[in-house]
Amino acid sequence: MATSTPHPGDFPPVTEELLRALPKTDLHCHLDGSLRLETILDLAEKQKVRLPADTPEGLARAIHMGQNTGSLEKYLEAFDVTLSVLQTEESLYRAAYELAIDAARENVRYLEVRYAPVLHTRLGLKPTTIVDAVLEGLRVAKRETHVKSNVIICGIRHIDPATSLRLAELAVAYKNRGVVGYDLAGAEEGYPSKDHQAAFQLILSNNVNVTIHAGEAFGPESIAQAVHYCGAHRIGHGVRLRENGDLLNYINDHRVPLEMCPSSNVQTGSVADMKSHPLKFYFDFGLRVTINTDNRLITDTTLTKELGIAHREMGFTLEDLCTLIVSGFKSAFLPYREKADLLKAVNQEIAAVLAKHGAPPKLVESLPRNAREA
Ligand SMILES: [Zn+2]
Repeated sequence: MATSTPHPGDFPPVTEELLRALPKTDLHCHLDGSLRLETILDLAEKQKVRLPADTPEGLARAIHMGQNTGSLEKYLEAFDVTLSVLQTEESLYRAAYELAIDAARENVRYLEVRYAPVLHTRLGLKPTTIVDAVLEGLRVAKRETHVKSNVIICGIRHIDPATSLRLAELAVAYKNRGVVGYDLAGAEEGYPSKDHQAAFQLILSNNVNVTIHAGEAFGPESIAQAVHYCGAHRIGHGVRLRENGDLLNYINDHRVPLEMCPSSNVQTGSVADMKSHPLKFYFDFGLRVTINTDNRLITDTTLTKELGIAHREMGFTLEDLCTLIVSGFKSAFLPYREKADLLKAVNQEIAAVLAKHGAPPKLVESLPRNAREA
């Protein structure tokens, strides 16, 4: 095993091209926040849906694309627009297909797509049709690009708990058929996750994975509830975890991964700016942190962009970025053995990409050491 510490000069420069070439995961990505702008316009025309604007530029403005909105509630308004065209089987298929294709283009190797089927029933679609359409889109994209993907079904905090239970039943029925987890999304403040405990009880008793949006628009109590009442295996965001050192250590000790989405966290006002984002502090402290897009369209981002931000604005070195990437694969909702195989292939690929970009062999050898265990 190589023991010499890599010298900063050993590392190739962190270019966009290098970040794009590295294999990546996106574990926190909303289907209804990640459409292509042109697709929304096209779907609206076909479905005779009125949008707030009829040009890509106008639509981008209307959904505050890439803008700081100041609050999660304000940020979520964009979904009124995207959901207005996501009420048919064809549109759901297309959104899922294009999302996986776009992710594959920047070398995302493993994608977990999340959405709440209950938000797609306005025209009477059956929940099963909604789930099948998305799974089919992802399947076809996988055939074409080899991007591996799975689905997380979301309950919504501000919709009644009985609906969350119905959605949990749906997730349970599709377990081992493309659905790997259950989440709670939506307005966090005033809508505690423990109100939805019946849904989580069903999910946990069926051995389905749980991730919960928490500590994004409300304090650490929300994270504690997600973990202690609802059995969360991962936390969506967890930005405010730093406010409670005891809980921070609990999350660290139990290796509960955080799905962080830096650009989105700034846009929702969860953090004031990138400089005050806790990602690097959590990383340095030893937490299992992952980096994700949240909403590729609304946040106007990609995994490549988020990694670039982590490098330029948070001080992540290339070595750190590789560790962050590997944490994504480690945190995937995949069976252990499958994950271990994937991790092995990914480590080899990271080494190959770095070597191709001019990293010396001793550095390449030393990098994946922290990454062999799933
Ligand atoms: Zn989210």
